[in-house]
Order: sequence, then structure tokens, then C-alpha cells
Amino acid sequence: GPGPNVGPGPNAGPGPNAGPGPEVLRCRGLRKEFGGQVVLDGLDLTVAEHQVVALIGASGSGKSTLLRCVNLLEELHDGTIELDGEEISAPGIDPDKVRRRIGMVFQSYNLFPHLSVLDNVTLAPRRVHRRSRAEAETRARELLDRVGLAAKADAYPDRLSGGQQQRVAIVRALANSPRLLLLDEVTSALDPELVGEVLTMIRDLKAEGMTMVLATHEMGFAREVADQVCFLDAGRVVESGPPEQVLAHPTQPRTRQFLARII
Ligand code: ADP
Ligand code: MG
Repeated sequence: GPGPNVGPGPNAGPGPNAGPGPEVLRCRGLRKEFGGQVVLDGLDLTVAEHQVVALIGASGSGKSTLLRCVNLLEELHDGTIELDGEEISAPGIDPDKVRRRIGMVFQSYNLFPHLSVLDNVTLAPRRVHRRSRAEAETRARELLDRVGLAAKADAYPDRLSGGQQQRVAIVRALANSPRLLLLDEVTSALDPELVGEVLTMIRDLKAEGMTMVLATHEMGFAREVADQVCFLDAGRVVESGPPEQVLAHPTQPRTRQFLARII
């Protein structure tokens, strides 16, 4: 196939009459507090297969907390999260099993400094998925090759630029062939000249049909790549819709205020 197991199915692609695909993620009524402070306040979010959803909103609006809740890194106080129709927020669910189906990339790349690029990428497939070293390395090299990092397989992270490190972090998140990829401001820590190579990689993943939720401050990129933009304010989705609607013609005063401040 053309892609690293992230390609769209035979019926995918935005044909003229194509509706959204099946739901990959559905969050209902998510509520999360930190020490009495309400951070997610009855938040709803639905993501269809092959969709890219951009989360925008001021710092502190709850974007990272939402992504961390979806990846079961935070406990909810209320609400439900479904992945492919299965309630992953239910008691008794094994979070490690769920995380194998979700890839997550953070602002700080979080590569293991004492491991080579190849070992960073193959660690989870070998430890968690019990794949053989040969199998894991074959797939890792294939993924690295696709993003132009094959020559860096044996390098250590400190020999790589920030942009290269972040691309390795994305490759690592893809190594498990996740159903859903969560990207939390993955370009925010990069020097401006390194942002483009990471955005290009995300663009390519979209073209291959990867379902993604990304928190971003890059409004131009959100406008270009997102099928749906969600504006978060105080832990709620205040406004959501296609980028041209939310970013160019917002209806909610809070959205207008936010966009006026940052553009
Ligand atoms: P965003 O990603 O949109 O900037 P966050 O989800 O990081 O927002 O944060 C939302 C709110 O939750 C902020 O007020 C933040 O200080 C608070 N918060 C986030 N994580 C924690 C934590 N582990 N402990 C206490 N407060 C937290
Ligand atoms: Mg954040």
C-alpha cells in the first residue's frame, strides 16, 4: 500500500456527496476539575474517520486536558469517551490497551535521550505489542524513510534538530498504527524555520486518511488542514464547524474576541 497502514479505506476520500465516515471518537459531557477548578465543563466532541479536528482557544481553555483525558492520562469526573463505539472511559477498561490504539505527541518531543532514533520508535512496539525486534525495526525504518529520516535511525536525539526530533516523535506515535492521533501543539516549541517540516508531515498524514485531533495556535494551518475547528473557552466547546465558518465568520462573541486578539 502507499502508506504506513494509515491510508484511507477504499471508500474514503471527500467525494462530492461523501458524508462523514463512521465515528472514531465521541466525547460526551466531559467534566474535569483540578483542585476545585473546573477545567472541562460538560465538553462534547465527535470526530469521524479520516477527519482532522483542530482545537483552538486561549491558553488554559482546556485543550491539553481534553487530549490527555482522551488518552486516559487523566481521570474524568463525569462524562463518557467512546473510541470506535467502545466506551473507553468505563471502569475496568485497561488504559494501556486503549493507548495502543491512540497515538499522542506532545509539545516537548519527549524522546528518550539515551536511546537511538530507531530504539525510540521501536520501544513500544517491542515492549507493549511484543513484536520481534526485526519486525519492529522493519516498520520503523519504513516509517523513518517515508519522512526522510532514514539516515538518522542510529543517531541519538541530541544530534537532531527540534523539527527532526518532533518528526521522530510523530513516527513513534505512528509505529503502533493507531486509530487516532492526538497532537498537542506539536510546533509550539520549534524555531520558526522548523515548523514547516512538521506541518508538512501532518498534511501528508491527512492525505493518507489519518484521523487526528490537534491543539494548535497556528490558525493558518488549522484553516488549511482541519475539517472541523473547535473553539474552546473555559472547558467548553463554544463554537465548532468548518474552518471557514469558525475562523472567518464566527458567530459567538468569545470566538470573535479570541480571533481578534491573535490575528
Ligand atoms: P490549554 O492546553 O488549553 O492551555 P490546559 O488543559 O493545559 O489548557 O489547562 C486548563 C486548566 O487546567 C489551566 O487552568 C491549567 O492551569 C489547569 N491544569 C492543567 N493541568 C493541571 C494539573 N495537572 N494540575 C492542576 N491544574 C491543571
Ligand atoms: Mg495546552
